[in-house]
Amino acid sequence: MSELTDTLCLQCGLCCNSVLFADVRRERGDDSKLFQQFGPRVAQRCPAFNSGDCTCAIYAERPSRCRQFECKQLLAVRAGKKSAETALKKIREAKKLSAEVEKFLAQLGFNETQLPLSKRFQKCQRAAERGKISLENLDLLADLQLAVHRLNQLLAQDFYA
Ligand code: SF4
Ligand code: SF4
Repeated sequence: MSELTDTLCLQCGLCCNSVLFADVRRERGDDSKLFQQFGPRVAQRCPAFNSGDCTCAIYAERPSRCRQFECKQLLAVRAGKKSAETALKKIREAKKLSAEVEKFLAQLGFNETQLPLSKRFQKCQRAAERGKISLENLDLLADLQLAVHRLNQLLAQDFYA
């Protein structure tokens, strides 16, 4: 890892833990051991991701998609357009919002953490459309929808490159 990815990525993990992406897809010619073990499309949270210290268990042999992706925060710091501290603030903001989304989903009973965050939210939305969310949970559902909206705005503006 470079000094910059050490500084940012080891405190982030958003591109591995299903907040930014729902899966990791194999690209042509990629023989990463991730795909050998789990097939060509691996759902996130990535099984190689260690959420305790935000490390990748197969970092030296990670997929080409993972090697290529650099979020806007990383790019901006690399280009000298913002400081690492400012980028870390944005990362902490996104992590706080995604933790809120996780919390609301769990409170509503959508706590299958093996599914990507976006899929769990879609399941919850479908349940709401079918009238399967109880009346007493409608405020919680509104809190969840607002948190997802704010998270998606932040990711679109500050992370997807
Ligand atoms: S989202 Fe950006 S800062 Fe976070 S781990 Fe991925 S590349 Fe690193
Ligand atoms: S293989 Fe490593 S870098 Fe790629 S998504 Fe999984 S944990 Fe992240």
